Amino acid sequence: MSTEGFVKQIIQLSQQSEELFAHYLLAQDNLYRKIPENEQAALVAKAIASGQAAARHLQSLSLSDFLAEAGISVTYVEETSSKTKVAYTLAEIRLPNRITLNRTLLNSGQQLIDQQEALQFLVERAPIADVLIAHELYHYLENRDQLYTTEKHVQYKIGPFSKTVRIHSLSEIAATAFAKEVFDLSFSPLLFNPVLLYKFDTAFSESFNEQLLKQVE
Ligand SMILES: [Zn+2]
Repeated sequence: MSTEGFVKQIIQLSQQSEELFAHYLLAQDNLYRKIPENEQAALVAKAIASGQAAARHLQSLSLSDFLAEAGISVTYVEETSSKTKVAYTLAEIRLPNRITLNRTLLNSGQQLIDQQEALQFLVERAPIADVLIAHELYHYLENRDQLYTTEKHVQYKIGPFSKTVRIHSLSEIAATAFAKEVFDLSFSPLLFNPVLLYKFDTAFSESFNEQLLKQVE
């Protein structure tokens, strides 16, 4: 696929609802098959609501003020591996207070956006780094305030035993909704995954888009 084709996919995906991306994340969960189908929509809706509600913590504060007040540091690492490795980390938080961002992938995504006029909208409201930081900040808040996403969500049986478990993808769904709400983005921040990885793992980025677009048609 040409870069133009990829850009078109991103634009099409930017117009889709948060639920589309949320269901994609849920389907990636190791425990996905343990979640009854008729409970999925409610779990997703509650996770999105949790992210949106947590965004109110930031309403009067800038992102950097909040980080300073909470004593959270942000550091950058370079991607040292060669292309097409199995897993990349764009950003992560080590609780209680250390956020790390992958500068190589950030710069790569920014470069793609700079080269593609049609992708400018992605950075209109906030720099990519801030959106990724906001996502990680939700993980800080869910842990500090024991939000919905840290609860046990689903009960299932193994033999005669009953087990209740936390569904971790709900945290990702909420963190994504949180970042979207904080900056009032018109698109899902999950779109930064394919954009930032495009030059490193084009096959991943294209198939990510295709899997999501399949649900649209
Ligand atoms: Zn996350």
